[in-house]
Amino acid sequence: MADTVELPSRLAILPFKNKVLLPGAIIRIRCTSPTSVKLVEQELWQREEKGMIGILPVRDTAAASETPTVSDSVDQTSKVHGGSSDSNTKVQNDVHWHNRGVAARALHLSRGVEKPSGRVTYIVVLEGLCRFNVQELSTRGTYHTAKISSLEMTKTEMEQVEHDPDFIMLSRQFKATAMELISVLEQKQSTGGRTKVLLETVPVHKLADIFVASFEISFEEQLSMLDSVDAKVRLSKATELVDRHLQSIRVAEKITQKVEGQLSKSQKEFLLRQQMKAIKEELGDNDDEEDDLAALERKMQSAGMPQNTWKLAIREFRRLKKMQPQQPGYSSSRAYLELLSDLPWQKASKEHELDLRAAQERLDNDHYGLVKVKQRIIEYLAVRKLKPDARGPVLCFVGPPGVGKTSLASSIAAALDRKFVRISLGGVKDEADIRGHRRTYIGSMPGRLIDGLKKVAVCNPVMLLDEIDKTGSDVRGDPASALLEVLDPEQNKTFNDHYLNVPFDLSKVIFVATANRAQPIPPPLLDRMEVIELPGYTPEEKLKIAMRHLIPRVLDQHGLSSEFLQIPKAMVQLVIQRYTREAGVRSLERNLAALARAAAVRVAEQEQVVPLSKGVEGLSTPLLENRLVDSAEVEMEVIPMGVNNRDISNTFRITSPLVVDETMVEKVLGPPKFDGRETAERVVTPGICVGLVWTTFGGEVQFVEASTMVGKGELHLTGQLGDVIKESAQIALTWVRARAADLKLTSAEGINLLEGRDIHIHFPAGAIPKDGPSAGVTLVTALVSLFSKRKVRSDTAMTGEMTLRGLVLPVGGIKDKILAAHRYGIKRVILPEKNLKDLVEVPPSVLANLEILLAKRMEDVLEQAFDSGCPWRQNSKL
Ligand code: ADP
Repeated sequence: MADTVELPSRLAILPFKNKVLLPGAIIRIRCTSPTSVKLVEQELWQREEKGMIGILPVRDTAAASETPTVSDSVDQTSKVHGGSSDSNTKVQNDVHWHNRGVAARALHLSRGVEKPSGRVTYIVVLEGLCRFNVQELSTRGTYHTAKISSLEMTKTEMEQVEHDPDFIMLSRQFKATAMELISVLEQKQSTGGRTKVLLETVPVHKLADIFVASFEISFEEQLSMLDSVDAKVRLSKATELVDRHLQSIRVAEKITQKVEGQLSKSQKEFLLRQQMKAIKEELGDNDDEEDDLAALERKMQSAGMPQNTWKLAIREFRRLKKMQPQQPGYSSSRAYLELLSDLPWQKASKEHELDLRAAQERLDNDHYGLVKVKQRIIEYLAVRKLKPDARGPVLCFVGPPGVGKTSLASSIAAALDRKFVRISLGGVKDEADIRGHRRTYIGSMPGRLIDGLKKVAVCNPVMLLDEIDKTGSDVRGDPASALLEVLDPEQNKTFNDHYLNVPFDLSKVIFVATANRAQPIPPPLLDRMEVIELPGYTPEEKLKIAMRHLIPRVLDQHGLSSEFLQIPKAMVQLVIQRYTREAGVRSLERNLAALARAAAVRVAEQEQVVPLSKGVEGLSTPLLENRLVDSAEVEMEVIPMGVNNRDISNTFRITSPLVVDETMVEKVLGPPKFDGRETAERVVTPGICVGLVWTTFGGEVQFVEASTMVGKGELHLTGQLGDVIKESAQIALTWVRARAADLKLTSAEGINLLEGRDIHIHFPAGAIPKDGPSAGVTLVTALVSLFSKRKVRSDTAMTGEMTLRGLVLPVGGIKDKILAAHRYGIKRVILPEKNLKDLVEVPPSVLANLEILLAKRMEDVLEQAFDSGCPWRQNSKL
């Protein structure tokens, strides 16, 4: 920008309506009226260098046209006659000409033709150069001209002003304010750089005009700015205006900040997510989620929920739809709705007319023996057939592991043509496991029952509550009380799972429970169930179960058949006797599976495909030789297509089956674990006695070992014993000490049996917890044996509670205990006399192998326990 501008003395004048052009500002005007077009054509267009015109503000009070288009102004101003210049404003026909204007240079001109009349228009870009005073206004043709005098400072004037301390201070103040404005604007948009340069290069009095021109101020203020010819006045006015503008920006900013602050976090998130959604849409990958939700809605609609549940579900669904997948709570809300729509509210297995004979057949086919149990199941089914909604008791199978409790329950399901679902309750201590956690908890889930129903997907399955005796209760609530509600036909119509939070009808579910023992089941729960006991099996029963059920199943599971592998009876017996000692058949099944596995491996590897049985060992068939030589050919010959999918037997069919023998048994299962001589081997010294106890695994043989050493007469007990058993030991010791003389344990009455010695009684195996009163007689026998230094008979086992007076009281689990004794190869069993009635439950085949000795008092026990009878004094009054 030039420092000074040379102005001609006369200028063509463009009236500028209600607006002021300030020096340094640039405007773009569209000239459409004939007068302005003429002015442009004659004053600017014709000239080579783009000419100069004056811009004079006019105020039009009569016709308030909003836009200062040149056409309007010129139309009105054309009526103006040349007027005197003595007043500040020239008033004519309500048009006020200002007597001060700004000379402008045309920077750019473009000509256009306005259709349809063919009228010409111009677009002019003008730059304001410097102020002038109008000396005299006149017309030239249709437009105005004016005689002017420049108001631009001369060089000397400028130098003078620059040294004026007032000016220096004012300019400093202005620059500071301007700088502030720039930095505020800079934060909003990146225009600062250029403006700062302006600030440093342009003389400050010009800057004042440029700054003020850049923002909107009233016409009056613009006029007064134009009239501020004096540089100092101009500067102070500009500083004021810039400052005011700055303040207004700040206020506006504050307001927006406030408004923004009022937008809550979630609103902001919403906005951002909307943007993200838009971006995703743009990228074309937004439809997954919506499809998913639509699918979920369809699933919900077809779930058949009750009215109230549906209302709740749809409310939740609406909430979910408004959420974004990343939002907390989205996934939990979604999982909840998925569960609601997965649950079988109405879906049920079709109920067929129950065929009792078919059910009986099915039970017989699946299970050997268990006549009474099966009969009870048939009765149960018969009642259901006659009265399908009968609220019979829940069946509860009680027995040691592996006796077929679970498989019986699944047979019931099969007989009823219902689906079967097993819920394991072993170790459940938290009520929430049954009833679920409330959804307010993080990671909350439905309870096991609802989960089971979701998996089985019908509302009328047979549901097995496995190991119902293993639920415990602690601070987290009592699962048993939740189960009470489940099993109560009055309450389970509206079972309330905390997670689900709406009632679910469990009344169509057929519940069956299993337990190892009935005793730990809380009485109210037991009250709702009918206990069916399944005692352990005798070795004969096990053999039959193995031959009829286990072996075919095991072979099938391993892709073998009897044409391929045979396990003879004798070998099964061997496995039962030497490798298993359990009430059920689970470990027998495992051992048989091990044999089948070993056989499968041999066949698959094609080594030793010939039977292992001694007689045929080493033989090979021509077929086998063929196979080894040319397998392709043989395969074509032997593969029976489409018979079944037992791959191995199909592929490797051989002429004679692999027969398991003793060598193979030992090779696969290892050396025998039990040999029936255990009791004889262990009962070798005085102080050791064989007891019979009852555990969750059924009956068990329990050795009791007593020993004495130098001490102060104390009794030591080891072997993880409970309180009851510890007390039994005290009672036993007291009883023996009281009768020491009678039992000939001391030479004379009154001698302390424990004088100078301690007693230690141990119950192996030391790691298994033991409790109960039935070891009483065994403890006494062990102590008597210890003090009398006579061995107890190793072929004899005993059980019974003893009172302090020496009476033998009956105990429970007789059948299991006798079976256990039988398993151990014991020949004689001493039982309380009152347990005689329990012997009817014991299979005759077992009783035939055992001598049962009944005892009323402790002396009877001792009499039978020792080879030469009880060592008591003949005439004692025990
Ligand atoms: P539990 O539930 O009592 O622990 P399971 O029902 O799991 O025992 O039975 C273990 C295995 O023994 C199953 O394969 C089952 O079929 C089989 N089993 C048990 N008792 C019999 C039986 N009487 N007849 C046929 N198989 C039986």
